Amino acid sequence: MPIIVHKYGGTSVGTPEKIKNVARKVKKVHDRGNEVVVIVSAMGHTTDELIDLMDKITDNPSPREYDMLVSTGEQVSAALLAMALQEIGCPAVSLTGGQAGVKTEDIYKKARIKDIHLDRMKKELKQGNVVVITGFQGIDSKGDIITIGRGGSDTSAVAIAAALAADVCDIYTDVDGVYTTDPRIVKNARKIENISYEEMLELASLGAQVLHPRSVECASFYDIVIHLRSSTKDITGTYIKSVAQIAREASKMEKKEPVRGIALDENIAKVGILKVPDKPGIAAHIFGALAAESINVDMIVQSIHSAGAMADMAFTVNRTDMKKAVQVTEKLKKKLAAVSVIWDPDVCKVSIVGKGMVSQPGTAAKMFDALSKAKINIQMISTSEIRVSCVVRKEQGKKAVQILHKVFGLEKVR
Ligand code: ADP
Ligand code: ASP
Ligand code: MG
Repeated sequence: MPIIVHKYGGTSVGTPEKIKNVARKVKKVHDRGNEVVVIVSAMGHTTDELIDLMDKITDNPSPREYDMLVSTGEQVSAALLAMALQEIGCPAVSLTGGQAGVKTEDIYKKARIKDIHLDRMKKELKQGNVVVITGFQGIDSKGDIITIGRGGSDTSAVAIAAALAADVCDIYTDVDGVYTTDPRIVKNARKIENISYEEMLELASLGAQVLHPRSVECASFYDIVIHLRSSTKDITGTYIKSVAQIAREASKMEKKEPVRGIALDENIAKVGILKVPDKPGIAAHIFGALAAESINVDMIVQSIHSAGAMADMAFTVNRTDMKKAVQVTEKLKKKLAAVSVIWDPDVCKVSIVGKGMVSQPGTAAKMFDALSKAKINIQMISTSEIRVSCVVRKEQGKKAVQILHKVFGLEKVR
């Protein structure tokens, strides 16, 4: 019997009516004789509201209690969906990540899923139940509840699909596919039919919130097709699959556009340490200290002062890590004989992504030219074979995306 794995995001289960609607859709799939597993996120903005509550209690929450708290949102939606299914005559059971056998690393707040023990899930499926599982969480080796990073329910779903050897994981959300950029920013953004794991992973890692990056990584590793689609419209969405599969299915050799999508990440901050002596070992010292505090550093720029053996070092971190990164850098300032530490939360990162960039020189230059014509100053740049990212002032981020979308002709149907 085929196993169907569906995931419904926060907005799709945001109200009792929406949960009832999801239940009706799930029942139809179950009635066709399928075994069905559904992964759910917390209702609407519940996770943010739980974090707001926490902020009213403490500035310095224990990571263990953070996970205990924020994981509760998914329990509410899972239990309500199971009840809604039972109410319309569809047998269902809800399980927490731990009950469903989702084992994670022993790291609070951002663990990876290590393993999934299927016994309980299989038993419930065999009894004819739809199994509704809380996304975003699992348990560690001590049996503590662990969350896997904001937006992580997508990853729970793909990991469960992989463990159950499903070929496809359907991710239902409030847009009907992956667009060339966030359709909230560019009204004429275009829906993409098929996108490779590599391009989707870049877009997701660079801030396109539509999928959790690790879900794409996991899908690529286990060769699971993700079908990202609308929870309200019954239409085909976007397929995320391997380049080889896309090429096999294409009727003709597709022309490779240099840019397939644009992402905006407004959740970053810049930190700088100024006038550090320019000698071997300084970068290792700074970034070693940040790594020891589990702070992920993204872009790094070092500039040399002409006046002497001094350098300025600037880097970006996730905005939630800014305070900690400044504390770590301030501590090093004296030791390294640096002059000052600066920080700026009012920046953002705009990135263009596309595999076709490799064979088309001049794509980065075209991006810089478009930004300069719009009087948008670029503060930092980083590149890979398939992307170019620029840090700009936060208030100019959306405008930058709109301009680049136009300059690269992404609105045109191909
Ligand atoms: P869910 O609650 O279902 O997980 P999210 O809010 O996490 O949904 O993700 C869906 C949102 O992602 C959309 O509403 C859209 O505004 C945003 N988004 C950002 N970039 C893109 C993109 N390239 N294509 C589609 N949606 C995008
Ligand atoms: N509820 C969690 C969050 O808001 C996980 C998710 O929605 O995927 O981050
Ligand atoms: Mg999401």
